[in-house]
Amino acid sequence: MKEVVLSGIRSTGHLHLGNYFGALRNFVQMQHEYRCYFFVADWHSLTTHPTPEDHQGNVRTVISEYLACGIDPDVATLYVQSDVPEIAELYLLLNMNAYVGELERTTTFKEKVRKQPENVNAGLLTYPVLMAADIIIHKANKVPVGKDQEQNLEMARKFAKRFNRIYGVDFFIEPKGYSFSGKLIKIPGLDGSGKMGKSEGNALNLADDPEVIRQKVMRAVTDAGPTHENQTPPEPIQNLFQLMEVASQPDVIAYYRKQYAECKIRYGEMKSQLADDLIRLTAPIRERITDIQGDEEYLRKIVRQGAEKARESASKTLREVKEIMGFKPF
Ligand code: AMP
Repeated sequence: MKEVVLSGIRSTGHLHLGNYFGALRNFVQMQHEYRCYFFVADWHSLTTHPTPEDHQGNVRTVISEYLACGIDPDVATLYVQSDVPEIAELYLLLNMNAYVGELERTTTFKEKVRKQPENVNAGLLTYPVLMAADIIIHKANKVPVGKDQEQNLEMARKFAKRFNRIYGVDFFIEPKGYSFSGKLIKIPGLDGSGKMGKSEGNALNLADDPEVIRQKVMRAVTDAGPTHENQTPPEPIQNLFQLMEVASQPDVIAYYRKQYAECKIRYGEMKSQLADDLIRLTAPIRERITDIQGDEEYLRKIVRQGAEKARESASKTLREVKEIMGFKPF
């Protein structure tokens, strides 16, 4: 029996190069080793964006980008959260054994209260319960999460254990975090510091046109150049070399490293080369995104197929949960 991996995707924004190298590329490989569930977390998005401008369009973009990166819907289960009502029912049941005090103490909740004091809704408070339902409904035991979601995963473990204890069963397994150890690459931003991120405004999106990629790369922060030979490059320049590491040929990287070490580097030329290589790297993915997004029929089929597969697993768990709790048909 294959281990079960589950990962949720926010339904707002585009996938960027950091998402690709930090997550998607690993998912593409993992889908053959594990039973993988990838879902678009559109209910979760409502906790912060209750009136999305183009809900359907956002979901469609995310699904298309996942498919374009190489997620195979015949191998993994790719679905939209709101297509699986069983998750909402399990969420309701789990809420009866989730306590307001512990939910109020969650770091992500406290952060959101600070960020959106005008909309502290019950969905925000019970976010960890919905996340627990997402995970345990498929009995997922491996959940790739970032640092910010570790506490919520801990809550999911707590709710799973509590269910077992309260109803005297050994039913839910405890989901564990999963990190792509060894293969982790941090993709830097183009603004000279930190990492590439959706909200930082420093990202190269997989769906960006070649001209947009070129503009973004040519505007990347640099400095006045090295002042002495064999200098260690400062962060903005390191970042450019790091991007070259994922996009350029080894001899090209070696050439620019040598130019830098000998104080002969011309940043304009280096960025132009980097832009060419990044465009070459992303072009096939971008083309696939455009093709998939334009194919209504195909997308409809994929989403329907994903919902069917996800509901098969979810309804089995929910049926068993209800039996354990004492719900029996008359
Ligand atoms: P986010 O879109 O920020 O929620 O990121 C989703 C996942 O993409 C993260 O958990 C990471 O695995 C990966 N990721 C995001 N940004 C980067 C980055 N700059 N470098 C490497 N991996 C990243």
